[in-house]
Amino acid sequence: MTSFTFADRPIKKLCLFDVDDTLTIPRQRVSKEMLDVLAQLRKKMAIGFVGGSDFSKISEQLAVDGGRVVDQFDYAFAENGLTAYKMGKELPSQSFIKFIGDTEYKKLVNFILHYLADIDIPIKRFGHASSVPGPPKANGVSCSDLFHRGTFIHQVRAKFMQKLKETFPQYDLIYAVGGPISFDIFPRGWDKTYALKHVEDEGFEEIHFFGDKAYPGGNDYEIYNDSRTIGHSIKDPEETIRIVRELFLS
Ligand SMILES: [Mg+2]
Repeated sequence: MTSFTFADRPIKKLCLFDVDDTLTIPRQRVSKEMLDVLAQLRKKMAIGFVGGSDFSKISEQLAVDGGRVVDQFDYAFAENGLTAYKMGKELPSQSFIKFIGDTEYKKLVNFILHYLADIDIPIKRFGHASSVPGPPKANGVSCSDLFHRGTFIHQVRAKFMQKLKETFPQYDLIYAVGGPISFDIFPRGWDKTYALKHVEDEGFEEIHFFGDKAYPGGNDYEIYNDSRTIGHSIKDPEETIRIVRELFLS
């Protein structure tokens, strides 16, 4: 029988958190209050984050004073868990391009770039030059900085996702609206529930998940509704703090 890694925690449960709008204001740094709450919670049980964006972006948001974000959380899942750390050590990762193949990937990227170029929205801006999909996210395709915040609104994204679904039915991919301006594309099953297989071996009594996009089409929907988790649909970091305090710290 394997021993429980978190024997120093009195409660044999795990709390997983989405990042944008759950632990932080989108794309911004985590607050001191949130860090305090997470540190208190970690004394009682295991904690982790499961974000859709890549590891470097999440690190910028959550890491404290040049420290490693993987030392602040027991589990660190970027790109829905395709990049995964447990207790500061990296677990085996997956790659979207390996899964779908270079030729298919190129077709998808070409279609996306054409579609984005032709989209008619009032204001268009390039973000950083590096955000044009050069090296893609390991789990899919990201164009999150291509448009100025606020112009790439939800309806535009939803329509775009529908168009991709119709154009590439043979790929069996999921298209989800992500943070404030992004969208995520990944193989079926590579949503945030992908992260759960990395925690199964510990046999937690309960796995709590906190996320702001728990509605159909949102990137927290699958893990929020998964039978292995107890889902908490929250609207912002303040509500996350309030519920964590109520449930575990009072
Ligand atoms: Mg979120």
